[in-house]
Amino acid sequence: MSHGSLKWKPGSAVPYAALCKTFELIDATTKRLQILAYLTTFLKQVIERSPDDLVACIYLCLNRIGPEYEGKELGIGESILIKAVAQATGLSAQSIKQDVAEQGDLGTVAQARRGHQKTMFPPPPLTVASVLKTLREIANITGQSSQALKINKINKLLVACKDNEPKYLIRSLEGKLRIGLAEQSILQALAHAGALADPKVEKMGEEKRAAVLSEAAATLKHVYNELPNYDEIIPAMLTHGIPALPLHCKLRPGVPLKPMLAHPTKSLLDVLNRFENVEFTCEYKYDGERAQIHLIESGDVMVYSRNSENLSVKYPDIVEALPQVFKQGTKSFVLDCEAVAWDREKQCILPFQVLSTRKRKDVQAADVQVQVCVFAFDLLYLNGKPLTGETLQTRRALLIEHFIEVPGVFALAKHMESKDVEEIQTFLDEAVVGNCEGLMVKTLTTTSTYEPSKRSRNWLKVKKDYLAGLGDTFDLCVIGAYVGRGKRTGVYGAFLLACYDEEREEWQSICKIGTGFTESDLTTLHATLTPHIIPSPRSYYRYTDSPNLTPDVWFAPHAVWEVKAADLSVSPVHHAAVGLVDRNKGVSLRFPRFVRVREDKKAEEATNAGQVGCENVVGFCFVCFVEEAGGVEFEQ
Ligand code: AMP
Repeated sequence: MSHGSLKWKPGSAVPYAALCKTFELIDATTKRLQILAYLTTFLKQVIERSPDDLVACIYLCLNRIGPEYEGKELGIGESILIKAVAQATGLSAQSIKQDVAEQGDLGTVAQARRGHQKTMFPPPPLTVASVLKTLREIANITGQSSQALKINKINKLLVACKDNEPKYLIRSLEGKLRIGLAEQSILQALAHAGALADPKVEKMGEEKRAAVLSEAAATLKHVYNELPNYDEIIPAMLTHGIPALPLHCKLRPGVPLKPMLAHPTKSLLDVLNRFENVEFTCEYKYDGERAQIHLIESGDVMVYSRNSENLSVKYPDIVEALPQVFKQGTKSFVLDCEAVAWDREKQCILPFQVLSTRKRKDVQAADVQVQVCVFAFDLLYLNGKPLTGETLQTRRALLIEHFIEVPGVFALAKHMESKDVEEIQTFLDEAVVGNCEGLMVKTLTTTSTYEPSKRSRNWLKVKKDYLAGLGDTFDLCVIGAYVGRGKRTGVYGAFLLACYDEEREEWQSICKIGTGFTESDLTTLHATLTPHIIPSPRSYYRYTDSPNLTPDVWFAPHAVWEVKAADLSVSPVHHAAVGLVDRNKGVSLRFPRFVRVREDKKAEEATNAGQVGCENVVGFCFVCFVEEAGGVEFEQ
């Protein structure tokens, strides 16, 4: 076997050690092609020897215990893990903590400490399936003595661990593997392994094989975007092969798909230039929360957020009102909408800030204080048929045909078609007066299919802020804070923010922020951030250690804030998008201002490094760094 990976007997369960060996190989390289090769080799072996374990292997690679949209989490805090490692190694929690402070990673500490121990009656080796099963059991433990029960289960796993297994087990329990394995690479490796399992493909000439592999990856990614559920896709892939997968795994109500996103633009002229030869439509860009509304044939209604979180408990009023908004005979659908705060008396849209005061949990329809109106802008599925491959014109026609506007409850997004810049400007002004954020401009006929999960150039956003020259906002993760002084004594005075690099799986510092906060913001933020304090920075934080910049307290990656900036610049101290604009330097925000907390975004959904580094960050005069023979100069 190449790459030094571990073999096991065909037909037997995949040993956890084989997966951990693969993790170690991946961990030791940063080369994407190499990572892909290691994982493909391992997955191909799983397909050949133990195909029933393929789903479990993929979940452990992803560090998930089920489909993302089911939202099941392990719910293990750092202190529980430290206690479990202490018990399994016979050391005190205090000494484990000290090791972590020195070595920065509990996984490494667990591995080193376990390595010194000998067990008299070693338990049987762990398998991938047994580890996933225990992780799922841990996630299901609730109630009074849950902490002790969880520690007990973790302890049993740790005692059975050998070699490098404790390291990866602990990292899985922490919720992040940190080996630079992004989901897109996992999908690609799975597709390659699936295709290579066919001996005909294995025997093909290099060029032909490369084409088949690339086609397989595109098909699998497409299918996953429409039906993000490995429990369904993998068995279908093993039975029918990848080319036939789209026939067996399709978008279906009840399974949220990742929404399509838009590209920013600088001006209406920019829009007209980009869409010069295509038919397009302009829609109001409503300022609320994205809501993907599903009706399944049983009559059940679900509302999903932008990141596939089930919001049905937050919006029981939407669920309750839904039967009024579709015509008889409509059995199932998936709608793409924006839920917006609504003033029933004045019959008008309220700003986003009002919506953000709505409770997220335990909401009763009768007690709702902040009313919402749903504005539907797309229809992705209707009566048993996915519509993502249809044009927007067709999807919109079906939306109009099958749905009923109910004032203050449900409306279709306002739209207009024109190529006249003044007419579009007037429409934009009306949108802004109506408390909208600006316009969404979308291709209507040619190249206007719905592209799940893509930031597509077929949807352009024109925000009022860009036009005022203020630039776009960034959604950034709070990784540290500085103790407040003077008027800010007792709360944090400033914060360290980071963007997320998906490829490297790390948070990269982008700015220190101290403006835009009211006094009450600072009090609330102090209270909400404190539970996320960690004793030392995570090994996957990239920041500059200096007296001016190192925060007084560190946070686990959790809170995401929307931040507005006057400009971007290449920075000697910040690390955002390092390697994209300059080989060694990162980008930082100039004059950042806090706008709001993004409750709807997880830390990994912070603005990513690619977005920070790309030319599409608009409204900024991006300061570019050019190194010349005679020295260093800045260029606009
Ligand atoms: P942004 O968050 O700035 O990238 O803007 C995209 C968001 O605008 C989407 O995720 C939706 O929540 C929201 N939105 C509001 N109105 C529309 C519309 N007419 N079409 C598409 N998205 C919209």
